[in-house]
Amino acid sequence: MDKIIIAIDGHSSCGKSTLAKGLASSLNYTYIDSGAMYRAVTLFFLRQEVKLEDEEQIRQALQHINIRFNAENRTILNGEDVENEIRKMEVSNFVSQVSAVPAVRRAMVRQQQAMGKDKGIVMDGRDIGTVVFPDAELKIFLTADPEKRAQRRFEELLGKGIKASIEEVRQNLSLRDHIDSTREDSPLRQAADATVIDNTHLNREEQLEYALELAHSAGAVSL
Ligand code: C5P
Repeated sequence: MDKIIIAIDGHSSCGKSTLAKGLASSLNYTYIDSGAMYRAVTLFFLRQEVKLEDEEQIRQALQHINIRFNAENRTILNGEDVENEIRKMEVSNFVSQVSAVPAVRRAMVRQQQAMGKDKGIVMDGRDIGTVVFPDAELKIFLTADPEKRAQRRFEELLGKGIKASIEEVRQNLSLRDHIDSTREDSPLRQAADATVIDNTHLNREEQLEYALELAHSAGAVSL
């Protein structure tokens, strides 16, 4: 076996995308940020004022949503580059409510599974190892100290020029963690066969090195 599926799950701002991107580039795999897909749906719902109580409106809206990633891995919603928009706090503050809607999850999971049909993919999210790819050859569950996560996210937002206070970031992470872990449909869970990596005290290189070892043991061949 040369190409495998790598599923990375964990709480918000644990560094999942950094590790996933590193693995994808080392293995020459495709990286898919499943959170960006839920964020794009959320942006669409906010713009169209879709009410989460209105199942019919949600069904209609989902039919008008097309999400893809361009060559630079930026998120494209119905032909528009929304990569910056979807990272803003307005979206972060609503995304977990939107992601808890079963019809939204069904639509996203279907697309994510199609993206992984030829393997050679690293996907990060909340339900990748449990629901999207329960047979993934490698599952990683990332964790990190909550205060460290808030600091990292705050610095990331600052770097992107997005305004937010550290307190707002702290509250947003803890609210999303709560909703993501307690929702009825596909809650955030560690898959029984996932390897846990706590990266509180690991730097990027150390984490990547360890995850690459796991990937090779699971059958991945670097191209
Ligand atoms: O990964 P990121 O933090 O950008 O994800 C944004 C939100 O999307 C999460 O807080 C969660 O509510 C939702 N999500 C999800 N399932 C996934 C990925 C993200 O419910 N597989």
